[in-house]
Amino acid sequence: MVIKLLEIGHCTHPHRIIDRRGSWRPKKFPAHVAVMQHPTEGFMLFDTGYAERFSEVTAKYPEKLYQLITPMYLKESEFLINQLLSLGIMVHQIRYIFISHFHADHIAGLKDFPEAKFICSRIGLQNALKLGRYRSLFKGFLPKLLPDDFSKRTIFLEDCKRIKLKSFMHPFCIGYDLFNDGLFSAISLPGHASGHYGLLSKYQKNSIFLIGDAAFTTDDIEKLSKPSKIPNLLFDNVEAYYKTMDQLAYLYSSNHDIKIIPTHCYRASTSLAGEKVKRQ
Ligand SMILES: [Zn+2]
Repeated sequence: MVIKLLEIGHCTHPHRIIDRRGSWRPKKFPAHVAVMQHPTEGFMLFDTGYAERFSEVTAKYPEKLYQLITPMYLKESEFLINQLLSLGIMVHQIRYIFISHFHADHIAGLKDFPEAKFICSRIGLQNALKLGRYRSLFKGFLPKLLPDDFSKRTIFLEDCKRIKLKSFMHPFCIGYDLFNDGLFSAISLPGHASGHYGLLSKYQKNSIFLIGDAAFTTDDIEKLSKPSKIPNLLFDNVEAYYKTMDQLAYLYSSNHDIKIIPTHCYRASTSLAGEKVKRQ
């Protein structure tokens, strides 16, 4: 089992937006993607980060507001497909893409993987799809980023085997075992977006908990930072977000063998820098 984090572009916005004690100066927030290899199922991605397509679907108003509020920066060398190729992984070798939630900076690359199956929350998808054009936009979802055959290639994690997590994950108790072998467990992390899930897996000695946007950075978990009121408008449920953050803070302080990886955190990605993906 191997894992590697890749930075697929970044956006900038004032740190103050995600932390009431932060500065108003613009700060970089990377969009990380995890590449993982299951021993028999092959390669799986955790989200896709940005793609050029994000600029295309936000070229006109009202969607342009998304690009203005959180401008994307993505060099060709950072394209997900290019970074996978540099690891010796071809597009068709990506068998699964786990979608933590449907915000555009997590799903912009889905159309680049025509053969992959998608693993996501049924509730998350249903709630995203029932929003109209404007409400979708203000909830950070751009429907044009979904492949036309998305529903035909989707596995709902709620249909996977429901399991009781081991005690070391306290206060998180319940997960969904994606491949029925105990290697990848989806864990609900509500609040940031409807149907928001993290992914727990084990690599060598460490358990790695990819938490998407349940917290923006490791610092936020350590300090229990509260976002400003602006992202509260984007969140699915602010109270649930704070409760999830409290649970993550408890896990972080009580179990140092688990690496908790927020998507937009440079500090967390550095902690995984030593992990390599094997070439096939
Ligand atoms: Zn998000």
